Order: sequence, then C-alpha cells, then structure tokens
Amino acid sequence: MTRIGFIGLGNMGGHMARNLAAADAGHALTVFDVAPALMETVPGARTASSIAELSGAQDVIISMLPAGVHVREVYLGAQGVLENVADGTLLIDCSTIDPESARTVASAAAGRGLAMIDAPVSGGTAGAEAGTLTFIVGGSADALTSARPYLEVMGANVYHAGDSGAGQIAKICNNMLLAIHMAGTAEALALGVENGLDPTVLSEIMKQSSGGNWSLNVYNPYPGVMDGVPASRGYEGGFLTDLMTKDLGLAMDTAEGSRSSVPMGALAKNLYRIHQQQNDAGRLDFSSIQLLYRPALKTDQG
Ligand code: NAD
Repeated sequence: MTRIGFIGLGNMGGHMARNLAAADAGHALTVFDVAPALMETVPGARTASSIAELSGAQDVIISMLPAGVHVREVYLGAQGVLENVADGTLLIDCSTIDPESARTVASAAAGRGLAMIDAPVSGGTAGAEAGTLTFIVGGSADALTSARPYLEVMGANVYHAGDSGAGQIAKICNNMLLAIHMAGTAEALALGVENGLDPTVLSEIMKQSSGGNWSLNVYNPYPGVMDGVPASRGYEGGFLTDLMTKDLGLAMDTAEGSRSSVPMGALAKNLYRIHQQQNDAGRLDFSSIQLLYRPALKTDQG
C-alpha cells in the first residue's frame, strides 16, 4: 500500500484526493489544507495537523496550491516539506505556478536527493472530479515513470513537456490561448446578439464553421446556450477569473524572460483585469468575460 500525502484540498485538489482515496490500489492517504473544514471532505483519509506532520512518512507527496508563493512556502519554508520529508519520497506539484518557482523547488529537492516533477493540469474541476485530467509534466523521465501510476488515477492523459519547469511553460501557453479564444468567443457572440441574432443559433453556426473552438464548442460563455457550463449557473464554479488573471500574469512574465511578443495575450490579460475590477468578477468563472461585452446580462445574474 502506497502512503500518499496530499496538500491543498480546494476546488481541484479535493476531487483529486478523493479519487486517490477511492482508487482500487487502496492508497493510504493523509491530507492537509490550511482550511481545516476541507480536510473532512476526503472519505477514508487521515488528516495531518501541519505540513511537517504530513511530510514525515510518505512514499509520495502531491500538492495542489494556488500560486508559486504557496508552493515555495510549503516546500521550502521552515517546517516545510523538504525539512521533514523522508528519503526516497517522490514529490509531485500539480499547481499552476511560475516556471522559476517550479525549478527552484525541484532543484532544492534534488539537493536533498529527492525526485520532483511539476505536473500542472488541464481539464478543470469537471475533469478533476471525473478523474480525466490532462497532466503536463516537467522533470526527469524516471521521475515521471514513478509518478505515472498516481497521475493515471487522477487523469486520462499524461504528457512529458521536458525538464523541470517545462510543464509550467506548456500550461502557461495553453491558458494564454484559452483566455484569447474565450474573449474572442464572447466578443463574437455579443456582436451577433447586438445585431439581432439568437446566441444559440449563432453558436451552432460558428461551431460548424471556421470559428469553432473549445470555448464555443464545450464551454459556451453566453448564459442559456449550453447546459452544465458555468454560464448557465450564474458563472459559479469552474475556473475562477482570479486564477485566469494569475495565469495571464505568468504568461506575461514568461514572455518578458524570453523577450517574446505576446500582443494578444497582453490584451486578454488587460480585458480580464478590467473585468475582474469592474464587475467584481474574481470569484466568477472566467467565461464571465461575456459580462464585459454584454453588461445587460449582469442584471440577469442577480
Ligand atoms: P483553490 O484556491 O480552490 O485551492 C487551493 C487550496 O490550497 C485551498 O484549499 C487553500 O486553502 C490551500 N492552501 C493554500 N495555501 C496552503 C498552504 N500553505 N498549505 C496547505 N494548503 C494551502 O484553487 P484550485 O482551483 O484548486 O486550483 C489549484 C491550482 O490548480 C491553481 O494553481 C490553479 O491555477 C490550478 N488549476 C485550477 C483549475 C480550475 O479549474 N480550478 C484548472 C486547472 C488548474
């Protein structure tokens, strides 16, 4: 029986930990989150009272935290993972963070003789719940081979992007593109509606035409067009605007580091920032960018 320590039981991590707890392999799971109530949401898991307590006797430690600052604190801080972890423990960080923090933490782990991968995910809360996430991995091939059985409990696809930090770079590129096509989709739908079209009819037409894209096809941002997406439940749940804005900031920092031009990404970042501030939208799903183009919809959201 593998002993797994899981840190960070939020919108994503809670589902991932529950899938590990329910796995046929019968892993022995210990969980920790700074929000104590969340630790009671993983049936069958032991709860730890601190990172130090969790870290001591595990074969694998998995983390799912908001940002680089949290990952550095959890792994490198006083009483953090690296101070307390047993030799031979495999470290897997699934958070979306800046590549530099991922490399720094992996290198400190290597200094202690521990293998670590960055394994950010795509697939959202629905994918986390269904165990169908895509993992985008940075780190050594050997570490990935060791991690694969656990990743495959939580996900359906595992890609090796390259060395430490490469998983984060691939994830950042993906989310910059996601922000761009979500904003573009919302813009096109608003234009159609403001010129008398039904958003459902327009969506069907564009889905079958060259405008088809993931945001339009499976995550339509216009309320009432598609069942089961955040737009049809007041933009609750899903992937927060706060997190998308964070990821766009990571894209800008990464572009600065490589002196790359990212004009579409920069525009998307500013649109999301305006939306976050103007519509108090940080805790709404990122498809709520539709409200920036169609303020009239805000009254319908209550
Ligand atoms: P979340 O804010 O819901 O969860 C993060 C959890 O970490 C919280 O429960 C928080 O209490 C906990 N935490 C923070 N600091 C901690 C610490 N020092 N020790 C222990 N626990 C701590 O965020 P989320 O939606 O689960 O996202 C987690 C990561 O996954 C983020 O990096 C995000 O960008 C990424 N991501 C999210 C989605 C999504 O759809 N929500 C999709 C893909 C990737």
